[in-house]
Amino acid sequence: MSFSELGLSAKVQAAVASAGYTTPTPIQAEAIPHVLARRDVLGIAQTGTGKTAAFTLPMLTMLEEGRARARMPRTLILEPTRELAAQVEENFVKYGTNHKLSVALLIGGVSFGDQDAKLTRGVDVLIATPGRLLDHFERGRLLLTGVELLVIDEADRMLDMGFIPDIERICKMVPFTRQTLFFTATMPPEIQRITEQFLHNPVKVEVSRPASTAGTITQKLIKSGRKDFEKRDLLRNLIRSADNFKNAIIFCNRKSEVATLYKSLQKHDFSVTALHGDMDQRARMQALASFRDGSIQLLVASDVAARGLDIPDVSHVFNYDTPHHPEDYVHRIGRTGRAGRLGTAITIVTPEDMKSLSAIEKLIGQPIGWEGAPVSAEDATEARRERRSEGGRGEGGRGESGRGESGRGRRSIGTSRGEARGGDERPARREKAASAEDRPARRETAARPVEDRPARRDDRPAQAEARPAARAERPARSQGGPRPVSSGGRPPQRPDLSDEADVSHLPQFLLRPITFKSR
Ligand code: AMP
Repeated sequence: MSFSELGLSAKVQAAVASAGYTTPTPIQAEAIPHVLARRDVLGIAQTGTGKTAAFTLPMLTMLEEGRARARMPRTLILEPTRELAAQVEENFVKYGTNHKLSVALLIGGVSFGDQDAKLTRGVDVLIATPGRLLDHFERGRLLLTGVELLVIDEADRMLDMGFIPDIERICKMVPFTRQTLFFTATMPPEIQRITEQFLHNPVKVEVSRPASTAGTITQKLIKSGRKDFEKRDLLRNLIRSADNFKNAIIFCNRKSEVATLYKSLQKHDFSVTALHGDMDQRARMQALASFRDGSIQLLVASDVAARGLDIPDVSHVFNYDTPHHPEDYVHRIGRTGRAGRLGTAITIVTPEDMKSLSAIEKLIGQPIGWEGAPVSAEDATEARRERRSEGGRGEGGRGESGRGESGRGRRSIGTSRGEARGGDERPARREKAASAEDRPARRETAARPVEDRPARRDDRPAQAEARPAARAERPARSQGGPRPVSSGGRPPQRPDLSDEADVSHLPQFLLRPITFKSR
């Protein structure tokens, strides 16, 4: 199968060829002809399958006919997060090099005025997060009556983030006669209901994650003491001694942890950047770009910030924190071992993480091997005793940084910002467990100014999209010798305890709040 057999225009085919793609991925091969035939499509696929091009390529072909009118976008793409929206825009730039189409982005963190001016001139493609779109609409800056094609991407993540009522509203605002392309990684009942309500006789196209992923990841567990300095020390040693190391994503459960760990690694001369929900758009993009282009080797990230991003294959994933939600584990390790390459996923496990670990092993359907001694039942009992004697407050340990089993109600760095945007990621994430019925109500109670709404929602955590891809086998891998990542190559230092909770000296880009320009 080649791109020339799908019915795409000559301009689009030329752009695809110059992007270096020769063979359509399964979702592209299956979906594109239906999209071009103006059918509604229900695509069950996740990031990494080439699904973005499955809608951008036929859209570009179709948009060659006709012209945009002021304030009336011809097509609308809804994305749950700013990064995903920006990625889709990049796709239009990449595949639209031979077109003169106008593409606008309506997301938090991007100047309202600039986007508004673009809308006024008329756009062919509008890519938006639901909150921002509704803001523009409510301010009368936008008409949705000219939308011929609507794309709802990552629908199950929209559900996790509480966007479904917004999606329903938007679906009712675009013409009934539009074509709808709907993508989701999973089909929970709520999503099923939405598809039945808003898709007309859709063609269902289902693809699984590339099978090569599963067998190419070596997974390991490493026991650690529960104090943060112990974990950081262990992590540094793991990085230095990693076999076949090229680059790594280090996952933390909380964004405050991301900031602390980033600073610590930087202090220890590692080539490191960070990604978390409190960074502004420009800083996030810069962090990602430097990691993508290889100028930085380590990326410290929270699940929320990294979710869905198209980060190229990494050699290592380190779970600095054992994820509390087993789906996060699957999603995290899926960042390595892509496209048939080998990858290693190492999870640091403290005695307090054993419950989370057994949930992970249950989900993936197999035990994960320990490197060295495992955490024993005695370790777990001892940790509980220690914790009790500390009265739940860590002296430079978990309590202080607000992690751990409890970790509830803790504030993120930059307190006012954290509060304004729904606190730290973990407590917000627990909303997942709430029923669909009470989710919108809870959002209402969080009453915030309109300007704040899009950012807060766009950053709300999403549930893992990779649930089905959980089975990972472990080919035998050897352990190599020390491999410093640091540019300076300083020897390991004594654990530093100074950077536990004080965030005043963190780099500005990690603390800078996201600001919005209102009209
Ligand atoms: P997506 O699932 O849309 O996030 O795409 C995942 C990655 O696959 C992106 O980096 C795309 O650039 C890449 N990609 C998309 N289509 C193809 C293709 N036909 N052949 C090779 N790579 C592709």
